[in-house]
Amino acid sequence: MRHLQKPQLPIEDILEDCTASYRQGTRDGIKDKLRSSISVICDESRIYDNEAEQQNWSVFRPHAMVNGILSKDDMCDVYDSKFVKAEKIKNKYYDHLMSLAKSGKCPICGIGQVSTLDHYLAKTIYPIYAVTPYNLVPVCKDCNFAKHDSPLDPTCAPLHAYYDEVDSVIWLKASLSKSAGGLVAEFSVCDSLREHNPDLCRRLKKHMELYELNKAYAVQATTEIAENILFWRDKLEVWGREGLKEHLLEVLASKEVYQRNTWNTALLRALIEDVEILNDE
Ligand SMILES: [Zn+2]
Repeated sequence: MRHLQKPQLPIEDILEDCTASYRQGTRDGIKDKLRSSISVICDESRIYDNEAEQQNWSVFRPHAMVNGILSKDDMCDVYDSKFVKAEKIKNKYYDHLMSLAKSGKCPICGIGQVSTLDHYLAKTIYPIYAVTPYNLVPVCKDCNFAKHDSPLDPTCAPLHAYYDEVDSVIWLKASLSKSAGGLVAEFSVCDSLREHNPDLCRRLKKHMELYELNKAYAVQATTEIAENILFWRDKLEVWGREGLKEHLLEVLASKEVYQRNTWNTALLRALIEDVEILNDE
């Protein structure tokens, strides 16, 4: 997972703009209800940021109403019909949040293209955060679909691209094996992490499971292996084991400057560990 810079959009402005965009008398007086709830939602948004910074997920409780007057459906409407669809509001806030993934790649899987915003805390279960920027993460369609609306398990919260920085340790490993179709890679969380940081290890395992990343990474690795295996085998013969390892280490070092835990870096680390696996027989 790639860490993203936390958004700095003022929630007050978002709510003011959404309120202004409702016509008086629609949706059972949603305009007035939203206006009188702005300070409550702003306070909760600040609490979200403070608690998320401390990874204190147990404070977030599912709720049905906001300020006692706005229903879950009302808040979903604010997001669906204003935040996403009202052009001026969309251009100002939605598009800005989408642009936080600078390369355009999904921060969750690192494979897909960012195409939507994911509510880290589902808007149907935690409606007060329906338009809270801290709760809206740009992701790809597959990752958004994989993360069903469910109450957060505070003992094993999914990784949050704004509040989790997990690239300071190497945690992703690939295991290579030979099969009838050639070399295949399987991906998992490094066992050593369980001793050093059991909580992070549990969350990373859940992250891999939730977004089916083993499967997605294996697909990427299969193509990478197919495209490179003749080159690697040739160099193994010409340069020998140490020569090829040296080359792969240079490629790895360059990639790790950008990100250390991708399917590609994990694949390279596995190859460096066991270059002999490239031998045909
Ligand atoms: Zn994704």
